[in-house]
Amino acid sequence: MSALTTLPEWPPSLTPEQHEHLILLSSTYALSHGFTLLPPSSSQPPTSATAAPLSLIPTPFPRTLYNLAIELQPLYNALYARITLDWDFLDKVMGGSVSKVDSFQGELWRGWKSIRDDLVQPLQLGLFRSDYLLHHDDTENSKEGISIKQVEFNTIAASFGALSQRAGEMHRYLQKATNGYFSVSPHLTNPSNFPQNEPLRNLAAGLAEGWKAYGKKEAVILFVVQEGERNVFDQKWLEYELLESHGIPVIRHTFSELSKLAKIDPETKNLLLPSPLEPSVEAREVAVIYYRSAYTPDDYPTSKEWETRIHLEKSKAIKCPSMALQLSGAKKIQQVLSEPGILEDFLLNPSRPDVGFGEGAGDLTQDDIDKLRLTWIGLFPMDNSELGKKAYLQAINNSEKYVLKPQREGGGNNIYRENIPKFLKDLENQNHQPSSTPKEEDDEPDKKEGYILMELIEPPKGLKNWLVKGGENKARLADIVSELGVYGISLFGGNDNNQNHIINKTAGTLLRTKGRESDEGGVAIGISSIDSPLLV
Ligand code: ADP
Ligand code: MG
Ligand code: MG
Repeated sequence: MSALTTLPEWPPSLTPEQHEHLILLSSTYALSHGFTLLPPSSSQPPTSATAAPLSLIPTPFPRTLYNLAIELQPLYNALYARITLDWDFLDKVMGGSVSKVDSFQGELWRGWKSIRDDLVQPLQLGLFRSDYLLHHDDTENSKEGISIKQVEFNTIAASFGALSQRAGEMHRYLQKATNGYFSVSPHLTNPSNFPQNEPLRNLAAGLAEGWKAYGKKEAVILFVVQEGERNVFDQKWLEYELLESHGIPVIRHTFSELSKLAKIDPETKNLLLPSPLEPSVEAREVAVIYYRSAYTPDDYPTSKEWETRIHLEKSKAIKCPSMALQLSGAKKIQQVLSEPGILEDFLLNPSRPDVGFGEGAGDLTQDDIDKLRLTWIGLFPMDNSELGKKAYLQAINNSEKYVLKPQREGGGNNIYRENIPKFLKDLENQNHQPSSTPKEEDDEPDKKEGYILMELIEPPKGLKNWLVKGGENKARLADIVSELGVYGISLFGGNDNNQNHIINKTAGTLLRTKGRESDEGGVAIGISSIDSPLLV
């Protein structure tokens, strides 16, 4: 979808006094409203917090494209739910070369395959985030064709919902507290340009829906977390919301703690956790397992963690996400979806299960699918197919147009532009090295098949904003690129008796803004600020 949009000159100019005042108001707001991260090294329990990296004013974003991204989210929710339920497709895409050359995806796929016939919980919960960048499309007739292009679709541990809600609230507060940001820009004076956005409330409500579907009043939700996580307040807000608005208690554990603590009742398959602080309670039953961990190889330092993952998967608790749903979020899947006809098969094929639009095509039409596909940019396999061979030549000869991606999450893993050719050639050399275990030559899969090649999205130039790093009391005026995330909730997979559990909803947005000089943009890895959109 393109929009004829002129993004305004940004930011409007402020006097040094106005600027200083905003830094004071934003950092005090952040600290008093839990718009915070833990400092880089923190004691346990923590004794201080720092403001999360923020932008002083919201960043302009075309209203039509913002609304489009929100409108598409239920389609994406349905698409990924159906991928997850299609075992043949997952086997074909993830059980092939990817699982052979990528040990992490291999463990995940083989682990899932070994237990999938014995699983006792048909319902699965997804808290998704579909990420987009604005793309300046100079191939379109219009001189100002701006569209949104999808970066990736996250099916595990999509974070920053709570802090994003706080960022929007902070920008609204600043607007009110400064008479519309000192009336320096007509965009800032109109409150309706600041969208209502409540991902914290909606994501917590999504977890609560999973808990309700499980159907036991005394059960809890388990958050599986990483040790030393700095983004802990984003998670704590979800806990508070679950307890205060839904009356649901949360228990937090790291993955390694669970290897000792998690017990499954052999008969009922209930997942049980000890409750050492309540002598009268033998154990707490878990209704939903919510992973904010388990998505990178670092979360699985030994085979024990894989055993724990599989153990938890076999319980009756609803997983957010299941191993199959995590596999569906692989970048390889995103690439295969872009091959001809695949999207039509998933969204219009009459034999597909109901995941929120009715069975088969339900309420969906080819128009919906075309709209969705317009949010994609070129994605290519790195295999020996005709398409793969052509893509390889492009990657070597025209590398400045591409990013090469492994099957990883969490930021900092991609290979950009001129670094691609050497990287691919090094992979090529590894293919020819004799392996330690003797194997048939033909069985040896090509290492580069664990990667996908993606065209670079080209965000429009010229926007700047003031970014404040966490814990600093000054702002930097940076050339910026903003990535819009749209949260989605999907509860699916039930059999005929519990169709009423199907949920498919949009759950709000996130805007992360980074300096243009940086290719990657993780908030957690210290590059992006949490921003909010100013609709123009
Ligand atoms: P991860 O799962 O690690 O977050 P992403 O696919 O989101 O991986 O890539 C990380 C970052 O790299 C994105 O947030 C974005 O800033 C940048 N990026 C990824 N794909 C593209 C692309 N096609 N064009 C431009 N930038 C991209
Ligand atoms: Mg990701
Ligand atoms: Mg990402």
